[in-house]
Amino acid sequence: MSQSVQAAASAAHAPSYYAASGLPQSERAPLRGSVEADVVVIGAGYTGLSSALHLAEAGFKVVVLEAAKVGWGASGRNGGQLVHSYSRDMDVIEARYGSTTAQALGSMAFEGAKIIRERIDKYQIDCHFKPGGMFAAITAKQVKQLEHHKQLWERYGHQQLSLLDATESEAAIGTGRYRATLLDHSAGHMHPLRLAQGEAAAFESLGGVVHEGSPVLRIERGDPAVVHTAQGHAKARFVIVACNAYIGGLEPQLASRSMPCGTQVIATEPLGDRFPEILPTDYCVEDSNFLLDYFRLSGDRRLLYGGGVIYGARDPQHVESIIRPKLLKTFPQLKDVRIDYGWTGNFLLTLSRLPEVGRLSSNIYYSQGCSGHGVTFTHLIGRVLSEVIQGQANRFDAFANLPHYPFPGGRWFRVPLTALGAWYYDLRDKLQI
Ligand SMILES: Cc1cc2nc3c(=O)[nH]c(=O)nc-3n(C[C@H](O)[C@H](O)[C@H](O)COP(=O)(O)OP(=O)(O)OC[C@H]3O[C@@H](n4cnc5c(N)ncnc54)[C@H](O)[C@@H]3O)c2cc1C
Repeated sequence: MSQSVQAAASAAHAPSYYAASGLPQSERAPLRGSVEADVVVIGAGYTGLSSALHLAEAGFKVVVLEAAKVGWGASGRNGGQLVHSYSRDMDVIEARYGSTTAQALGSMAFEGAKIIRERIDKYQIDCHFKPGGMFAAITAKQVKQLEHHKQLWERYGHQQLSLLDATESEAAIGTGRYRATLLDHSAGHMHPLRLAQGEAAAFESLGGVVHEGSPVLRIERGDPAVVHTAQGHAKARFVIVACNAYIGGLEPQLASRSMPCGTQVIATEPLGDRFPEILPTDYCVEDSNFLLDYFRLSGDRRLLYGGGVIYGARDPQHVESIIRPKLLKTFPQLKDVRIDYGWTGNFLLTLSRLPEVGRLSSNIYYSQGCSGHGVTFTHLIGRVLSEVIQGQANRFDAFANLPHYPFPGGRWFRVPLTALGAWYYDLRDKLQI
């Protein structure tokens, strides 16, 4: 059984800190019988919800079909860090795809975070938003990379960056582990499930409808297209497929050029006043390793610490035993602190690490595969998908024209091969080369 269909069978969130502290929700009934809409969106993560909300704001009648619950996937489980741009650096994009593509993508690289901030303000979404995010360097080589990163982003018009030396970084984070950090004043962090739930509520306030517990089993091509669930179907002029790493068997061609990967997060007990040196700035942090660690304080001062990548996305039995050693390497003073929650979630990796966006037919669109950093991109692409449905395709095409390739060796080989890649990068991180 695919993970999305399994999700629908239980329809419960992963046992995360976020699920235990989400916004109050009323039941959303599964789809039964026949409905008609201008647009049907499949999946109620940020990609689906962001698209649905943009379209509802533009006056479209939109129905969202979600296999489990709003924010059940990566959007309700992630590190909560608003990181700008893409999972591939702009200079690599420039070198591989040319300056026209780089300019087009660069002009959108900082828009997603703005959309999130605007929505939080406009719809008064109580998601514990806090400003400021840091990239942290462990090795001398990574310090150079941060300097380069700053220059690169400044070239694309993003000026709100400061480099901090080792002493300043230690004062801001509470660990002597880092040689330098790059502080992005316009980044930030929030409770990701509350953001998804708040966006769903905003969408519903504009007349939009979300059906939970409604896994889509089949999309019938045509105009209108017909989207089938076990107990009903929805007809629409346009369909958006926004299922990302949890797509399972729906539309196999969307699974061929990407790979689901698991990453894990733990949440400590609330730290209260006991460790005032830990993140006094309340910024979020991610390190610069290829297999990176990411952490931040929650609204009630728990340390949320994430890391680890499982290629192929098998659910690990003991999340705490994977992540706790990483946490203690950064904050050894927390050795006696209790871990209250541990969970895993899946993101979708593409070979190029750039998102995969396109059309399955003239009126069926998709976006997936942000390859790790997806909180801001999913919000940007929601706007871009709403634009293409309204007849403006230029920004959509900038993404849709990016080439994507199957993982070498095909579906069965891609896990061992990329696991080997992970082993290599882990070794590189460890040897600091
Ligand atoms: C643990 C973790 C930490 C992360 N941390 C960060 C971070 O700090 N910053 C950052 O930028 N990015 C982070 N990411 C990545 C980011 O969360 C994702 O890129 C983003 O949330 C993807 O959103 P989405 O809407 O495309 O997919 P999802 O949120 O996964 O949503 C897909 C939805 O589709 C539904 N679905 C699937 N199949 C069907 C079907 N057949 N019918 C109906 N519905 C279906 C699923 O149930 C699910 O709700 C993290 C990811 C994980 C897993």
